[in-house]
Amino acid sequence: MPDGIMKEDVRMMRQKQILVVEDNLINREMLKEILAEQYAVLEAGNGLEALEILEQHRDDIALILLDIVMPVMDGIAFLEQLKADAELGLIPVIVMTQSDSREDEIAALAHGATDFVPKPYRPQVILHRVASIIKLRETAAMVNLLQYDRLTGLYTKEFFYRKVRERLDEHPDQEYSLICSNIENFKLYNDVFGMEAGDRLLQSVSRLMHADTDEDAIYGRYIADRFICLQKRARAREFEQWAAAHMHEWQSEDMKNITVKFGVYEITDRSVSVEQMCDRASLAASSIGGNYNQSIAVYDDVMRSKLLQEKAITDVMETALAERQFFLNLQPKYSLADNRMVGAEALVRWIHPEWGFMSPGQFIPLFEKNGFISKLDRYIWEEACALLRRWQDQGLPVLPVSVNVSRIDIYQSHLEETLLGLVQKYGIDPALLHLEITESAYTENTGRVLRTMEELKKLGFVIEMDDFGSGYSSLSLLGQMKLDILKLDMKFVQNETEKPEGQSILNDIVNMAHRLHLKVVAEGVETRAQMRRLQQDGCDYVQGYFFSKPVSVAEYEDMLRKAGGAEPQMQADARQGSMLPGLLVIDDDAAYREGVRWTFEDQYEVLEACDMKSACECLAAHRGGVSAIVLSMLLPENGAVEFLRKMRSDSANWNIPVLALIPQCDVEREFPQVLELDDFLCKCHPMFDLRRRVVRLIDVESVYVRARALQDAANQDYLTKLNNRRGLQNAMNALHEEDLPAALYLFDLDNLKHVNDSCGHDTGDRMIEAFAKLLRQMTRGEDVLCRYGGDEFIVILKHMSDAETAVRKGDRICQAFRESLVDESVAASCSCGVSLCGKEGDSAIEWIERADRALYRAKRENKGGCCVWSSEAD
Ligand code: C2E
Ligand code: CA
Ligand code: CA
Repeated sequence: MPDGIMKEDVRMMRQKQILVVEDNLINREMLKEILAEQYAVLEAGNGLEALEILEQHRDDIALILLDIVMPVMDGIAFLEQLKADAELGLIPVIVMTQSDSREDEIAALAHGATDFVPKPYRPQVILHRVASIIKLRETAAMVNLLQYDRLTGLYTKEFFYRKVRERLDEHPDQEYSLICSNIENFKLYNDVFGMEAGDRLLQSVSRLMHADTDEDAIYGRYIADRFICLQKRARAREFEQWAAAHMHEWQSEDMKNITVKFGVYEITDRSVSVEQMCDRASLAASSIGGNYNQSIAVYDDVMRSKLLQEKAITDVMETALAERQFFLNLQPKYSLADNRMVGAEALVRWIHPEWGFMSPGQFIPLFEKNGFISKLDRYIWEEACALLRRWQDQGLPVLPVSVNVSRIDIYQSHLEETLLGLVQKYGIDPALLHLEITESAYTENTGRVLRTMEELKKLGFVIEMDDFGSGYSSLSLLGQMKLDILKLDMKFVQNETEKPEGQSILNDIVNMAHRLHLKVVAEGVETRAQMRRLQQDGCDYVQGYFFSKPVSVAEYEDMLRKAGGAEPQMQADARQGSMLPGLLVIDDDAAYREGVRWTFEDQYEVLEACDMKSACECLAAHRGGVSAIVLSMLLPENGAVEFLRKMRSDSANWNIPVLALIPQCDVEREFPQVLELDDFLCKCHPMFDLRRRVVRLIDVESVYVRARALQDAANQDYLTKLNNRRGLQNAMNALHEEDLPAALYLFDLDNLKHVNDSCGHDTGDRMIEAFAKLLRQMTRGEDVLCRYGGDEFIVILKHMSDAETAVRKGDRICQAFRESLVDESVAASCSCGVSLCGKEGDSAIEWIERADRALYRAKRENKGGCCVWSSEAD
């Protein structure tokens, strides 16, 4: 059917051709003359010739004029052949008969002729007949066109409405449902694979809709990539179950990575127009767009209001962007190794003039569906770049900002240019812009995503895989991907950290990531317990409410300023004053504080604060010296919550256990936040209860700290607390491509043996300690320091690309050691060799060996200084 319609249609476009089949030459000439003004004429002398011509021009002939009596093949035999062919049979035939031959007329009509004209010919009659018959055919074709969709042969939308209405009227008691299908990302598919492939896809989906359904159903093409079908309710329910169960088949095989969603509207109120009913089925299908776990949805009122809301948002989004109603917040990320702030994620916020604050959850999924996300993302990226520029100009510490890259962005053909253009425009290093690409993006069009990522990485951007573990983990793909950072999904983190150690895969994932030279960020860390677990399992960075909620740009800039000035972390022994551990009690009730002081005085230095402000000051003054906090949740002006927030913004406080004091109440309802703290107590408690609890908290804490210390000890040199060989190996395994190029130094203390022999091992040890101290002073926190053997040290300086600079640095360390006063009686001196390692990365052993050869040269040629390894000198 579809083919027929199309050809019929083509036939109408061109100049119309008429085939005259007549053995009499004079008659033929006459007819030609009559027709020639309006039509192109083809001629045949008998039925057989006519069939041959038709073979060539089958699509171009609008009408046949046919004589009955002819040699070779007469008119009746020709008609028989013609009608046997489905397509040719559609061409109208006018038979020319002798005016006295009724039988001929009857025979001709019986064989499928459309009409007849008597001989002799009268031009007016012939032209009129021909024109009206052609017109008739065209109108019929037109009706077909209106009724049937050309591509799929299904009913058109309008016709479908009519058919459905008729059916509903005919069967008032039968229950029906409408099912609408929607191909996800059909537009993209079309763009990427071309229209023809798109058409083929549509045809196969329309066939799929047909498969397995009954004859009673009515099918139509709703719009572009949506098909619609009316089914009896019971059949529809079967289909729903089938579609839900076969969800994954819908996205497979010839329809590569294509997902089809279904929306169902159960017809209850027949007074609603069919158009509206279809609309609802279609809306139901849209409502699960982008939702991986659901392939079918039934329309309900909740859906209706949600969709209305979505429409309202769609109507204003462009204006909102133009009016800068969108802006970004920043949520800091921290390194677990040293509790330092390492950057932030940019998260979009929207304040609408009437609706007020809108959270991304309310609009991002919609923007991903309607494509607006690309515009919004571009805007946010630009804002982030502008901020990075500003920080550089203002001399603030410039830490990277991660921006979200939606999966829709990946399909934009100019993604790379757009991003590169932005960093160039603001003159920033692309490495400062981290790109968070959500995990689900990778499962859709893997090849494309991989290529894009590779390009972006080549350009110097840092790629993070967002939401890892949220359900579509492409573990096997991880190795293939050009990634830098794995970002664990919030739910995954929260679930895994709750499991007992043996049952969680957190540690395995982290190890696997490290083997692939990926750093790991955990998202959504809300409690200290979670943080510890992540620390224990080797996770590198964290982000979450425990440390900081997303904050305004101004607040973040404050944090940056502080991060720039502050020491990475105070050790417990940095505290001043009393030698007793500090216990901070924060309560506006002086009598209670007195009670606490009396109870704890013998073992703790009790620090008192009566409100949030003084508590913060006290904590800052005793930075590193507070072992536990007792906090009343009833401080005025919500001070307790505010205190907790402020306290956590300083990483030195993350490990301090907090016990909350609450009134007698339903905790879960009135103070849910205390459930996240380490412990809580009703304020009417006897003091010894408090004492027992606080002591336990501090014990737990110290056990944990001891465990960490033990773990660290395994990797540490006992004397210098630098890495030992094992620590070095771990550190080298964890080296990341972004750390390279790097320089590896091998230092050798020139006369340790002599010092040991002549001045004793104590002096020797002091010399070693002094050298370790010097190394700490002259390197950055991120560098790797190791005591490799008795008098040998290895230092890896990250981001060192230039041999000359490397040698100068080595020389300076050697010189500083010579000038240091270890002991009056001994002359300190050392030599070193250095070897640079580029992005390609040599093996660790090779790297060390080269530095060793350079050291050998330094000792021989350049005692007391540094030599660099080079292939020529070797
Ligand atoms: P995401 O990329 O996974 O971002 C993390 C979300 O988790 C943020 O929500 C953040 O505020 C929240 N979060 C962080 N730490 C915690 C925590 O400890 N506990 C809890 N419960 N939540 C935490 P937000 O800002 O509402 O963003 C939601 C999602 O919206 C984002 O998820 C991201 O998918 C999307 N989004 C936000 N901004 C943008 C953007 O500029 N572009 C694009 N394409 N998507 C964005
Ligand atoms: Ca993100
Ligand atoms: Ca995420």
